[in-house]
Parts: sequence; structure tokens; C-alpha cells
Amino acid sequence: MQLAAQLASFLVPGRALFFLIHLIGIACFSYIVAQRLVPLMRGERDFRFDQPWVRLGRVLKYWLGQWKQPRYRAAGTLHIFIFAGFLVLAIRAFSVLIVGVSPNFVPPGLSGRAGDVYGVITDYAATIVFLCMLIAVIRRLVFKPARYAVPAKYGKGHTADAIFLLSLIALLMLADSFFTAAKAAAQVRQGQPVEVLAALSLPWMIRNALVSTSLPTLGRMYFGAYFVHELTFYFLLCYRPFGIQFHVETSLFNIYFAKLDREILKPVRWGISDTQLDQVKSFGIKTFEDFTWKHMLDFYSCADCGRCSDQCPANAVGRPLSPRFITIKARDYSFAHYPVFGREKKGTALIGSIYSQDEIWSCTTCGACEQECPLLVEYIDKIVDLRRGMIDEGNVPQSLQKPLKALESRGNPYGKMEKKKADWASATEFQQTCRVKTLDHPNGAETLYFVDSITSFDDRMQSIGRATAKILSHVGENFGILGAAERDSGHEVRRFGEETLFMALRDHNVEAIKTSGVRRIVTADPHAYNALKHDYKDVPPVEHISQVIAREVESGKISFHPVENKNDVYTYHDPCYLGRHNQIYDEPRDVLDAIPGLKRVEMSRCRDRSFCCGGGGLMLFYEPKEEQRMGVKRVRMAAEAGASVIVTTCPFCMVNIEDAIKVAGMEGKMTVIDLTELVDRQVIRECPNAIEERAGEIKECVMASSHILK
Ligand code: SF4
Ligand code: SF4
Repeated sequence: MQLAAQLASFLVPGRALFFLIHLIGIACFSYIVAQRLVPLMRGERDFRFDQPWVRLGRVLKYWLGQWKQPRYRAAGTLHIFIFAGFLVLAIRAFSVLIVGVSPNFVPPGLSGRAGDVYGVITDYAATIVFLCMLIAVIRRLVFKPARYAVPAKYGKGHTADAIFLLSLIALLMLADSFFTAAKAAAQVRQGQPVEVLAALSLPWMIRNALVSTSLPTLGRMYFGAYFVHELTFYFLLCYRPFGIQFHVETSLFNIYFAKLDREILKPVRWGISDTQLDQVKSFGIKTFEDFTWKHMLDFYSCADCGRCSDQCPANAVGRPLSPRFITIKARDYSFAHYPVFGREKKGTALIGSIYSQDEIWSCTTCGACEQECPLLVEYIDKIVDLRRGMIDEGNVPQSLQKPLKALESRGNPYGKMEKKKADWASATEFQQTCRVKTLDHPNGAETLYFVDSITSFDDRMQSIGRATAKILSHVGENFGILGAAERDSGHEVRRFGEETLFMALRDHNVEAIKTSGVRRIVTADPHAYNALKHDYKDVPPVEHISQVIAREVESGKISFHPVENKNDVYTYHDPCYLGRHNQIYDEPRDVLDAIPGLKRVEMSRCRDRSFCCGGGGLMLFYEPKEEQRMGVKRVRMAAEAGASVIVTTCPFCMVNIEDAIKVAGMEGKMTVIDLTELVDRQVIRECPNAIEERAGEIKECVMASSHILK
């Protein structure tokens, strides 16, 4: 007791000073945070208060559990150690602060044995955090991971700031350890019961170095360490909201309020129904204040780790887009226009000041950035909203004007006549093998095959349509198509920011689907699948053809001949809107693995890290500046994996990859095939007797089809 009082007395002379530092520190921090909240108050509405338990679960998973960190093994492991250390040290940091004004303070529940155990844990935590800081500094200075680099066009690098902050945290750990060690060394010198210190920890090593120091010197060290700790703590607290370290404060909230269903695109305005949209004067984002408060919180929460841009295919091929800088530029804008000290400046147009048009059109909405971000920062909604803003102001890229007009007048981007929509199914040879009804009224068909524009009109992609129809027919589906009544699904139209055109296409299709009387929908186009599943309301459940095939392989209705060319090596390319956006990864692979003799390899970037082929829908009509095509990069990845055949399940991937094979000069070495085409090629059809038995039925069906398609 005597010693405790003696040590406590070391802090007494500074009590008033410490109290003042507390007051100033807390006041400054509160003021800064209040100022940082100002733009959020000016932002647009965003509904993020539903499903609190689900949100809390996500906080446990992504914040407390650091779920996404190990995706980058070295940096992620380092971060997990630092994060865990911070959590352990949080109670200690606050108790140390209170000790300054109340020297004998012990946190409730942490006296006696429990306190000793907690002390040992914090000793190790401080040591680990200190070492992690050193490693992080060395990584930044020596190994310089490429994803931290800041290209000149985006301003100056952030390395100096990062090192400054890492050093401050290291200093905090050192001060804390000195504080503990000085007290323990004094106990040793006095021959008093010695506070338990964790062996080989930083406080333990410092105590061992200080045991021969005189008591008054230890007292001064105790005081000095405390003073440094307190100053550093408050400086860090107040400095963080000025840069990348603000995520320490905001990440928990950012994850709690993160979007629960990533696939549902943000409406033009939260709380405004489609029918009220004509009352909305301005669509999309034009100025910073048009972002929602949550999207502004995203800007504050970005840790500048560069993972989003590292995975972004647009960035990889040199398009003028790097998602990380979409965020960093907006954060810099926010800090400059809503300064902590000074007047706010509102209303500057973002396009032309911090963002360029090309930058915003360069995104394929592949979702790789969002998949990767450990803090669940959102990009697609922001980019689509920025596009809505540009479209609203008439800034539509030249190459997109014609397809958009065609979509408006003809319901497809190619400007083809509606009545030609079912031509792909009218070839006599095809009709002899497959029945395709047109469902312009309820005629008993249970399933609608939604074909969408590219498969209906592109000569090459029509083969996917025919293969899909043959597979549906083979498994005994009573199905049909909408034919001339089908409009483009509008998936890309919506993602290009043309909300009203999308709504017109959607409403037309919903009406046609309802008229057909079907109970479910199947499509072979992941973009149509995503639109029908997430953008449409009140339509029957939708499946992608790969799901149907996988189920029927399982049920035994589909079985395969062995592949003929045993030298071929297959690889599966996950289309973004099937894989990342809808988590359909296994079914196509299961189908491939069910084909006897088929050798399959995975590309280094597969499943939720799949690399976009270049984008679908209207992306086919937009040619951004780029150093190389995404498709070419993808084809090279397939070659590196040792594949000679790329299998995909999306007509847009097929276009891009087929084209890329030519551009890369890999014709003859690499081919691409749609899963439906492969299944159609390999499937074991009925035995001759069974065919004979069904001959009459087929004949009848052919007659019906020709009648329908006339
Ligand atoms: S959605 Fe894809 S293309 Fe767009 S910014 Fe993200 S990673 Fe890049
Ligand atoms: S948005 Fe996310 S992934 Fe991208 S730099 Fe920021 S924290 Fe990292």
C-alpha cells in the first residue's frame, strides 16, 4: 500500500495538467467529429436502420471477426493482430487516462488475480502492436506493395502520413510499456511484491533494464511516460479524423450501416416510389451533397488499403478508373469543402472537378471492389448514381446514344424489329429437334425461357439460345419464349443510369410475363437473371440454366458422353453477374465435373475473385481508353492456368472472350464455349427406340412450332 501510494504520488503534481489535457483532448475530438458530421447531415437520405440483429451479426463477422482481412494474407494477418491488440488495450488506455486524475484507480473487475491476468494480456498486446507497427513501417518503406502507390494523376503519395501514424501508435505502446515497467522496477527496488509482467514482453524487458535505476528517477520516468502516453493518445484521437486513420472510429458504424442486399441497386431516391419519380427534379449525383449520408460515411471509413483497386479489372487494364481514388478524392473534397475550421463551400459539380466522365463510364459494375473491401465500402450504387446525374444532364457518350435510342423505340440495343426476336428458333433443322412455343397467352407452359437481346439477335449467340432450348426440351420442361413480346431486360440500361428507360422495359416485360401465365423463368444470360431476380418485382422465381442443368445431372435426367479430345484442358470463367453478384459458383463446375474425361483447372482469379471479361450489355457499345482489353488479360490467365478451353455461362463473356482470343493471337490454342453448348454437345440423347416412340410427338411439336413462329 505504501509503495502504491508512493508511486501514485509521482503523478500528483501533474494532476491538474493531466485533467486539463483530458478536457482539451475530449473537447477537440468532439468538435472535430461534430464538424465531420456536418456533410452527412447535408447528404441525401439512406435507409439503413432496418434489421438491427442482422446488422449486429455483420458487425461481429466483418468488424470484430475481421472476416475479409485474410484475403490478403500478410497485410490481413498484421491487421488482425493490430486490431486485436487495440481491442485488448482499449480498457487499459482508458484506465490509464483516469489514473492521471485519480492515481489509485483500478477498472472495475480488474483488481487482484483478474487484474494480473489482464495485465499479462495487455503486456503482450502492447508488444505485439509495437512489433506490428515496426513491420508495417518496414513493409511501407522497403517492400512497398504496389497497391499502396499513388499514381501522379491522383496526387501525392500517402506513405509519409501512414508512417507518421504508425510511429505515433508505436510511441503510444512504448509509453504505455514504460509506464508499467517503471512502476514494476520501483517495486523491485523497494523489495515489495512485484507486479506480474508477461515474460519477454516490452514492459518486462524495460523493467529488467530499469531495476537498478534510482527511485526518484523511476518516479520521473513514470510521470514522463504517463505524460507522453496522454499527449500521444489525444493527439492521435484528434489527428485521425483528418486522414486514413479515421476508419478506426468510423469502421464499426460503416459496417453496421452497410447495405444488406448488395444486389438491389439503390433507387433514384430513397423513400420515393417509381410512380412519384416524375416529381423528382434532379436524378443522380451531381454535387457532393447528392451522395447519401452513408456513402459519405464510406468516404471517411476507407483505410486506403488499395485492395479494391488491386482487384478492379478496369484499373488493371489502364482504364481511367481506380475505385480507391473514387473514395479518396471524395474524402479530400469533403475535408476541403467542409473544413474543421472555416466555412463550408457547397455545390461544386463533381464531374469535371474531381471525377471525369470517362472514369465513371469505365466501370463494368463487376463488383470485385465491393467483394474485396474489408470495410464494406460500396461502389456500384455511387457509380450508377453518378451516371444517372450525367444522363440527367444529357452527358451520354456518343457511342451509347444510338443503342439507347434503339432500346427506347425497339426494345433492343441493335434496333432490330420486334418480330425478328424469335428468328433464332425458326431454322427448320433446329425445329426438328426442339419445341419452342411462343407464350403470348397462357397455354399451359410452366416455364418461360427469357432469352434477352444479345442471344436473340447476335448470330453467334443464337447458338446459346438453341442449346438452352434443346436442354430444356431434353429434360422435359414445358417451356416457351415471349418472342416479339420480350424486350431487353434493361439490366445494363439501369446500370448505365437510364432509370426511366429501364422502368419502361421492365414494366413491359412484367406485363408480358404475367400474360404468359408461367410459374417460373429460366435464362442463360446472367444479366437477365440478375435483372429478373433483383430489379423486377412480382415475377415468378428465376433460375439460371446452369442451375437447371446441375439439378438434372443430379437427378439423372442428364448424363454425358466422355469428351472426345482428351488433350483439352477446360477452365471455368465465372461471369460477374452469376458468381460475385449471385453466388452461383458451384453448379457450373459440378456440371463440368460430371462430364467423363473432362480435365478442369482453376484460374488464379476464380469464383468471387473472378476477373471481368470486359463487361456486358451496353459496355459492348462503349470503348473506354485502356491499355489492353480485359478479355485479353482473362484469356492469358486461362493460358497460364494451362487451359485450352474456356467455358463460360454468359453470352457477353462469350463475345468478349472470343474477341480477346483473336486479339491475343491465340486462335488455335484457345477456344471458348458456353456451358449450354458444351452440355448440348456432350449430352446422351434418348436411345433410338425411345426416339421412335416419341417421333409422332416431335412431328406434332414441329408443326405447332412452325405455326407459332410464322
Ligand atoms: S465494380 Fe468492378 S470495374 Fe467497377 S470499380 Fe468496382 S472493381 Fe472496378
Ligand atoms: S475502399 Fe475498401 S478496399 Fe478500397 S482502399 Fe478503401 S478500405 Fe481498402
